[in-house]
Amino acid sequence: MVSSPASTVSSIAEHLAVVKGRIEAAARAADRDPASVVLTAVSKTQPFEAIDVVLGLGQRVFGENRVQEAQTRWTVERDRPVDVELRLIGALQSNKAADAVDLFDVIETLDRDSLAKALADAVQKSGRSPRLLAQVNTGAEQQKAGVLPGDLDGFLASARRDYGLSVEGLMAIPPVDEPAGLHFGLLAKLAQRNGLEVLSMGMSGDFETAIRFGATHVRVGSAIFGERKPISTPSRA
Ligand SMILES: *Cc1c(COP(=O)(O)O)cnc(C)c1O
Repeated sequence: MVSSPASTVSSIAEHLAVVKGRIEAAARAADRDPASVVLTAVSKTQPFEAIDVVLGLGQRVFGENRVQEAQTRWTVERDRPVDVELRLIGALQSNKAADAVDLFDVIETLDRDSLAKALADAVQKSGRSPRLLAQVNTGAEQQKAGVLPGDLDGFLASARRDYGLSVEGLMAIPPVDEPAGLHFGLLAKLAQRNGLEVLSMGMSGDFETAIRFGATHVRVGSAIFGERKPISTPSRA
C-alpha cells in the first residue's frame, strides 16, 4: 500500500508551487502573459493520494499516457471533478480510440491516417469530439511516434478533408540527446505555417526553454510528483 505521509503531501505542494513560479518567470522573461501557458500535470503512474494533493491545490489539467490506466484512475477510483481536463499524451492504438474519445478532453497523439479514421468513427458514434493535437516526430527518430515534419501539412489536410477532423495544435517530444530548443523552434514554425495555436511541448527538464519558443501547454510530471518508479525493465546491478 502506498502511504501518504505529511512530508510527501507538503513536498508535492512545494514542488507544484515551484513549477508554477518557474513557468511564470519563464513566460515573463519571454514577454509572454503567464496565463498563456497551461500546466498539464502528468499524473501517469502516480498513486491516487499524490493526485489528490494537486487536485486539492486547484490543479485541473492532467496528462495521462495510457487509456486503461486513465480510465481506472479517473472513472473507477474516483468521481472525476467536472472541471478536470484530461489530456492523452501517450500513444493511442486504434482499437482504443473509442475509449479514448469517451474519456479524454484532448488527444495529443494523433499521428497516422489509420488513427484519424478510427477517431473519426468513434466521434461519429459517441457524439463526443475531443480536441486534437498532431504529434510530430521532430527528430525523425526511428523508435518514436509522430508524423514526420515533411509529411505534416499533407497529414493535416487529409485529416480534415478525408475524416472531418480539425486539429488545433501540435505536440512533440524532442530527442534526448539534442538541444531541445531546436525541436521546439521547429514545432512552433510548423504550427505557425499551418495556422495552429496550440503547442504542447516541454517536460520537467526543459519546460522553460519550451515556453521561450512559444509553448502553450507544458507537460510536467516528475518535477511535481518526484521521480516515477520504473514500471518494467528493472535495472541490472
Ligand atoms: C511522462 C511524460 C511527460 C512528463 O515527463 P517528466 O519528465 O516527468 O516531466 C511529458 N510528456 C509525455 C509525452 C510523457 O510521456
